Amino acid sequence: MTGRPTGRPTGRPTHAGYFGAIWQSARSILEGMSVTLSYMFKPPTTVQYPDRLPVPMIDTIPERYRGFLEVDLATCTGCKACERDCPINCIVIDMEKVGDVRAMTRFDIDMGKCMYCNICVESCPIPTRSPGDTEDAKCIRMTREFEAATDSFSTLTFRFIRPGDAVPPFKPKKGVIEASPRRGDIARQARQRAQEYNALAARWATLTADDQRRHDNTGEAINAADVIKARVADLHPKVAAAGDDLRRLEDLIHAEALAQTDCEACGYQSCRQYAQGLIQGDTDRGKCEPGGPRSARDTRLIFEIRQGAWKSDGTRAD
Ligand code: SF4
Ligand code: SF4
Ligand code: SF4
Repeated sequence: MTGRPTGRPTGRPTHAGYFGAIWQSARSILEGMSVTLSYMFKPPTTVQYPDRLPVPMIDTIPERYRGFLEVDLATCTGCKACERDCPINCIVIDMEKVGDVRAMTRFDIDMGKCMYCNICVESCPIPTRSPGDTEDAKCIRMTREFEAATDSFSTLTFRFIRPGDAVPPFKPKKGVIEASPRRGDIARQARQRAQEYNALAARWATLTADDQRRHDNTGEAINAADVIKARVADLHPKVAAAGDDLRRLEDLIHAEALAQTDCEACGYQSCRQYAQGLIQGDTDRGKCEPGGPRSARDTRLIFEIRQGAWKSDGTRAD
């Protein structure tokens, strides 16, 4: 075909079009930058968390916020209503005879497990009043405390009674609303103590995945004693809390030792069924394939702790 002029534009820019496009681009960049630049002279709309707020962070949170639970032991009767009514067994209260009196020797709340449903608070029969609150609370109550970043769930078990201490139950007076410390103070202290008491558990969590895998797969001496000691110290109070309650033992094995994928590789239809099988006498503790050697070891440790082979500090009983 010969090239006949068609009258259509060739696509080649004119001088005016070329420089006009450059000017358009430069102008739109300048417009954008001027908006950005203007923010340098305006007060910021964001604040640095948590230390540059005009009021303490906690005071900006509504009073009914459901943060960590705390219990004011000075007003606790030890009635165990909260422990009984918690649908997922987060609370453990031990009552023992100490000398001539019965006293609470343990009041633990597993905040890593708690679903903040408030049922335990509603079950508690003891009303309390704390300074700064507009509403009455209970001796166990939600607080506005919420910060406890951790790499170990074990450090979220708040122990309101120090190991070895005993707290006599409170005798309430009818119709009296008991005065209680400012809400949140007790939870804050419990959170700090959780870090101290669970130091061994925290050590367990800080072992690198490689260290654990090397130990699990080869039994290599590196960290082996530490790993077992830390794991036993972590599991011991949980096994003790389960006691003879086989349902709680099943929960424990399921949560602590099995991989929880319900993959059926163990030959059972679910992890729960394998946990039940172990309790009912299945002696093969290495069936959980995804859990591998760690699963077998933790299952073994749970049963050995139950049989009294280990002390709570992670050392052998014999
Ligand atoms: S808030 Fe609910 S889940 Fe948490 S301890 Fe209380 S009853 Fe249990
Ligand atoms: S916190 Fe309340 S419900 Fe729980 S044991 Fe104490 S008095 Fe009873
Ligand atoms: S093999 Fe492990 S993860 Fe799979 S169902 Fe059995 S216990 Fe659960």
